[in-house]
Amino acid sequence: MTLSEAANDNQGRKLFAPRPCPICKKPSTEKYRPFCSKRCADVDLARWLGGNYAIPAAPEQDGDDDEGPANPTRG
Ligand SMILES: [Zn+2]
Repeated sequence: MTLSEAANDNQGRKLFAPRPCPICKKPSTEKYRPFCSKRCADVDLARWLGGNYAIPAAPEQDGDDDEGPANPTRG
């Protein structure tokens, strides 16, 4: 008795929506995701390194302790 087993569909496939390249809106590749190519990845990296983003400067806080003349006069 030979039973030809049918291909079991136990493969859990997940439908994923490929996000377009944030640089040129082309379909991203798996290698350079979320970008479409290394070029667009470099472009995005250059944006970060180029200084297009502003670094929030922390306000300087002066510790106001020991305020006032504290000179014990001895004599
Ligand atoms: Zn791209």
